[in-house]
Amino acid sequence: PERVFSGMQPSGDLHLGNYLGALINWVKMQEDWECVFCAVDLHAITVPQDPKILASKTREIVAAWLAAGIDPKKNIVFAQSSVRAHTELAWILNCTARMGWAERMTQFKDKAGKDAERASVGLFTYPVLMAADILAYKATHVPVGDDQKQHLELTRDCADRFNRDFNAPNFFPIPEPLIQGPGARIMSLKDGTKKMSKSDPSELSRINLVDDGDTIAKKIKKAKSDANALPSEVEGLEGRPEARNLVGIYGALADMTSAQVLAEFGGEGFGKFKPALAELAVEKLAPISERMRNYMSDTAQIDVILKDGAERASAIADPILKQVRETVGFVSV
Ligand code: ATP
Ligand code: MG
Repeated sequence: PERVFSGMQPSGDLHLGNYLGALINWVKMQEDWECVFCAVDLHAITVPQDPKILASKTREIVAAWLAAGIDPKKNIVFAQSSVRAHTELAWILNCTARMGWAERMTQFKDKAGKDAERASVGLFTYPVLMAADILAYKATHVPVGDDQKQHLELTRDCADRFNRDFNAPNFFPIPEPLIQGPGARIMSLKDGTKKMSKSDPSELSRINLVDDGDTIAKKIKKAKSDANALPSEVEGLEGRPEARNLVGIYGALADMTSAQVLAEFGGEGFGKFKPALAELAVEKLAPISERMRNYMSDTAQIDVILKDGAERASAIADPILKQVRETVGFVSV
């Protein structure tokens, strides 16, 4: 059977990139696929998190999903740390994955920065945990933003390697990427060559789903741009990463191609374009953040969803892990 797995880290506030690159696709996917949506708190702690707020960040991320239209009855919605299969399978896959695979991951290099010696071991093996997340459900499809393509490749290698090493052909399906739409790569508002991220220390680099209208307008006003007018053709965005990003964001929010956006705004300067973009962003995001705040005012309801989701997730993953243990040759008592 076909099954989708996808996750988001409770590592900060959800932003426009998470929304346009992942969440709006999840909302569409739930119509046609069996979906497992996971708040990946085990991934979040690969970099330091404040234990006092991690649980509330996890609930908040679920509130955002609900606010965007994810149905927790139709889909499985849960927190990664409450299903043991993830960590157990991650260990086993850590023993079949190769150092060289993990060493090639560009996200590790980005996140570890200059001083990789001081990064956590968890950050290094993060993609193997991601492989475990997906394979513990024998998921067949994974929606991937640009930033996750390389990690999904490693998941495919993990699945294939396990199947071969243990002579268990087709035990794990080799998961396929579901390629995302125009929002697959939203860049930082401060640097058009860096992706928008929760973990970017600069608040001005991203628009959060919980930002109010004034904050959104201020961040767009302060977004890096250039002194030229917008071109009337997409080719004119070449070498202008910030302009390209802002036009792309407008298009993703308005469900227009960049060419259509430029047909409307070509020849205009940012003095005119930015206020239009701010107005559009507020119009699209305000209702979500309003609903999100409502969900957050009843965290007991979110916990009921998480508990139910964890049970349903375990019901799928536990029998798969049982087969894994037998395949690896662990004693069963
Ligand atoms: P962190 O900085 O902690 O890694 P993040 O902003 O990258 O956080 P994740 O939780 O790692 O967010 O990713 C959640 C989902 O959002 C993934 O599907 C990822 O592909 C997507 N995503 C993250 N950043 C962007 C972006 N800038 N543009 C489009 N999609 C994105
Ligand atoms: Mg990320």
